[in-house]
Amino acid sequence: MAALIRGRIYTGFMPAKRVEALVTLGDRVLYAGDYARAARLARELRACGLPIDELELGDAVAVPGFVDAHIHMGSLGMALEGLDLRGVSSIEELKRAVAEAARAAKGWIFGRGWDQERLGRWPTRWDLDEAAPGRPVVLVRVCGHAAVLSTEAMRRLGLLGARGLPGLQVREDGEPTGVVFEDLVRRALEEVRRSVDARALLLRASQLLASRGITMVGDMDVDGLWLAGLLAASKELSVRVRAYLSLDAFEQLARLGLRAGVGDGMVRIVGVKLFADGSLGARTARLSRPYSDSPSERGVLLADGRRVAEVARRARRLGYDVAVHAIGDEALDHVLRGFAEAGYAGRVEHASVVRDDQLAVISRLGVRVVVQPAFLRSDFWLRDRLGDRVGLAYRFRSLMLAAGALGFSSDAPVEQPSPLENVYLAVTREGLGGAHEALTVEEALYAHTRGAALALGEAAGGCLEPGCYADVAVLSVDPLAARPADIASAAVEATLVAGRLVHGSL
Ligand SMILES: [Zn+2]
Repeated sequence: MAALIRGRIYTGFMPAKRVEALVTLGDRVLYAGDYARAARLARELRACGLPIDELELGDAVAVPGFVDAHIHMGSLGMALEGLDLRGVSSIEELKRAVAEAARAAKGWIFGRGWDQERLGRWPTRWDLDEAAPGRPVVLVRVCGHAAVLSTEAMRRLGLLGARGLPGLQVREDGEPTGVVFEDLVRRALEEVRRSVDARALLLRASQLLASRGITMVGDMDVDGLWLAGLLAASKELSVRVRAYLSLDAFEQLARLGLRAGVGDGMVRIVGVKLFADGSLGARTARLSRPYSDSPSERGVLLADGRRVAEVARRARRLGYDVAVHAIGDEALDHVLRGFAEAGYAGRVEHASVVRDDQLAVISRLGVRVVVQPAFLRSDFWLRDRLGDRVGLAYRFRSLMLAAGALGFSSDAPVEQPSPLENVYLAVTREGLGGAHEALTVEEALYAHTRGAALALGEAAGGCLEPGCYADVAVLSVDPLAARPADIASAAVEATLVAGRLVHGSL
């Protein structure tokens, strides 16, 4: 299948290059340049018996399809299916939402997006029991590192009688409140997932991504269940998926000797993802100095330098990329030490708090960094947590200069997958400020296309030059000519993956 696309087309950014026409063949760009030559090429292909679609952009503008370097496809699918609790601003409102879900469907009730800072206090299992008596309920906090469970959900997970278990929040009298952290969140979600259709949820997530102009994602923490779903859905997916296995899934598959690279152009296993710490929201991100709003806490360290090095060495022997979640600066110290020890420039996920001395190490090692501009708006409590260290947060400009590649992502479902919104936030730094770390529109577009593709190790992604993937986002505005606010509100009129229309029309 081939296509001739005519109109205003950017083949890439930094430097920005504009052409009049593209010819795609199969899943690649064959030609990018002037219309006369493209039309001639199309005639010749037609003479060889190849049918060619002709697409006119009109007033719209084509850019390389956006790459979201770090999302959670399965959780996104579940979030689309479950309750969206972002913006819920009281316990009463939370209870109403749960009660409504209980009336609407049988089985597990799940949702995500709450934030105790917005609710006024931490929710409890007794809140959920009141809203949906006797039902198993799991509501994940906005960061994904904490959740609140109903009493029935706790019972099914065997957590009711459990005392002194790590990750279990308890009252002064030792009674569990229903709030759980980290590993227990994962266990609760696993229980919910046994009741869902993985393939259907992944397809639903991929359609949403395509509607936002996203054509390739790094899918993080993929386990056996989601991997099976991805492989089953591969022919129907509307985004390319590069899977980073969860550490557990990697250990299992590595034992069987499975090398990275399994899959096809749409779905491919490329790496392993592990966690060095938690989140700033839950005060589990590991900082080198205590939290400014809780002087007794420095967060948790989930993997030290030696552990990172050990996993990286094993992963590299089988060809896997290594991505490590590090939000606090001390967690980042460990990850960088681990990469140096293993002699591998892996990926750092989030890098929310970065000191100057760490920028130098990132640069020397050539480490790739993946950040989430949407956190600028969501982390409205950041000044409380970090105090005068807030200037070390979300240093996109410094990281773009230092890192082997800087890629943008949404971390969906933690944030909405919206590249245009991300570009707007990286340029304006609305919410946090710190103008010296702002990017230009073109730099931000680069980070969401080419930069993110390079973070995924995809040399053919995030560009529309000959040989690149024929993955295109068609926008209602020219992003390099529009004001940032108009970029944020622009429409994605169409999305093509492998030369095929997967969203909208032309
Ligand atoms: Zn994530």
